[in-house]
Amino acid sequence: MCLFCKIINREIPSTIVYEDDTLFCFQDIRPVAPVHVLIVPKKHFDDILALSESAEGRKAYEDVLMALPKIAEITGTTEGFRFINNCREEGGQSVMHVHFHLIGGRKLGEKIL
Ligand code: 5GP
Ligand code: ZN
Repeated sequence: MCLFCKIINREIPSTIVYEDDTLFCFQDIRPVAPVHVLIVPKKHFDDILALSESAEGRKAYEDVLMALPKIAEITGTTEGFRFINNCREEGGQSVMHVHFHLIGGRKLGEKIL
């Protein structure tokens, strides 16, 4: 079982920020900003390209989107945040269970786009 599946199953502890039937959201262990949470579909998909391949995957992405207002409210980032997916090795993905970084709590600079 992958690292994030173990975290979702509570075999590995994490600081949970939000949870529902389909999503698990917890604090990143190495935060890069005052708010840095990971939003993770409970069902294992390797990456965002895998998400796009099935109706179930696309629904999982929609569930992430629909939870964003709640997670922004909980984390105090309704004024703005950055939402990031690193895809596969060249994209900097280090845990091969699809997840989205929500980063905020300070004015974010260092834009590459
Ligand atoms: P990626 O590099 O795949 O986009 O993001 C993986 C993220 O998972 C990293 O930001 C890393 O700090 C975080 N991470 C790795 N292992 C753990 C862990 O055991 N617990 C938590 N809470 N975060 C982790
Ligand atoms: Zn997994």
